[in-house]
Amino acid sequence: MDSIGIGEGEAVWPAIIEDLRKGVLKRQYRAGRLIDMKEVPFMKKELFENPECYHIETTRGCPYACDYCSVTEFYGNKYGHVRLKTSSVRLKTLRQDDFLCR
Ligand code: SF4
Repeated sequence: MDSIGIGEGEAVWPAIIEDLRKGVLKRQYRAGRLIDMKEVPFMKKELFENPECYHIETTRGCPYACDYCSVTEFYGNKYGHVRLKTSSVRLKTLRQDDFLCR
């Protein structure tokens, strides 16, 4: 492994790509903030190995803290969601027989 990103991908990925292009890849990239769900792009179906099975992300995080769960460790009891209108637009792109994972 050359490098590791810690935190949400949207927060660390741009710096990793930029440094990789410059040939100055660091060992570690750490997200300094949680991502606003408005910044999360709609995943491109055609990039999935099986385009028949992909997911539409509508939330991240959780306000609870169940002992066995890593979600709040990662997000720190924060909860973010995509606006209902955005979610419904995304859901409308699904075909009736598409498999919705989450
Ligand atoms: S299991 Fe995790 S995601 Fe589910 S309610 Fe508990 S802390 Fe939240």
